[in-house]
Amino acid sequence: MRKKLIVGNWKMNGRRAMANELCSTIMHEMQNFKNIDVTLCPPFILLDEVRKMTADSECMLGAQDLDMHNDGAYTGQVSAGMLKDAGCEWVIIGHSERRTLFGETNLTVGKKAKQALDHGLKPIVCVGETEGERKAGQETSIVQGQLQSVIDEIGIDSCKDMTIAYEPVWAIGTGLTATPEEAQTMHAFIREQLDLQHDETAKACRILYGGSMKQDNAGSLLGCPDIDGGLIGGASLNAGEFLGICRSA
Ligand code: PEP
Repeated sequence: MRKKLIVGNWKMNGRRAMANELCSTIMHEMQNFKNIDVTLCPPFILLDEVRKMTADSECMLGAQDLDMHNDGAYTGQVSAGMLKDAGCEWVIIGHSERRTLFGETNLTVGKKAKQALDHGLKPIVCVGETEGERKAGQETSIVQGQLQSVIDEIGIDSCKDMTIAYEPVWAIGTGLTATPEEAQTMHAFIREQLDLQHDETAKACRILYGGSMKQDNAGSLLGCPDIDGGLIGGASLNAGEFLGICRSA
């Protein structure tokens, strides 16, 4: 039985005061969420603030990206070792905003996933098709390509330590959500791809859904057999919404 995982991706939002307020509201209910995993991914500069706020709870800490290199002359970048040192257990990799706005490719996503695993961080690797790709009937081939390039880099045996987030690009931050049927179909496809290569990995690997998940649609999505949690963007900035999703999980 895979434990549900709810991840809050704050994106480039927040100040220390906001982090304090949001975390303290979430912390009031954390003791009710013993049966699920909860992770918060604030911007780098707020990691320490959130670490302190969540230190006495089961809530885990994650980053939104990392550099594919070890420490060195990479001005402005943040390494896997630094994230570990800051208390992170998780790191989001290959978010569609990173792919479309910052030129990340399947190759760099694979290298970042490897870098995370090599440093004991758990990667949450994002995959998902654009609206145009879905309209052209290419959604499964796009997702398969994104997934396979990570598997090629890290090896199928390491995939048990990876979490996959299926995030249809057309649903991210748009208010449009994949229907439970659309999401379940893609999640089952992703699991099948893993199963073809290693059945134990396919059973163990958590596959999250992301794309305008909110408290009022979370229950139907999280009730699908292959949806093991959610990667939450906008709604993770609202304590009431985020807690509502955690309750659904
Ligand atoms: C995300 O950023 O990963 C995301 C799913 O955003 P939103 O929930 O706002 O669609």
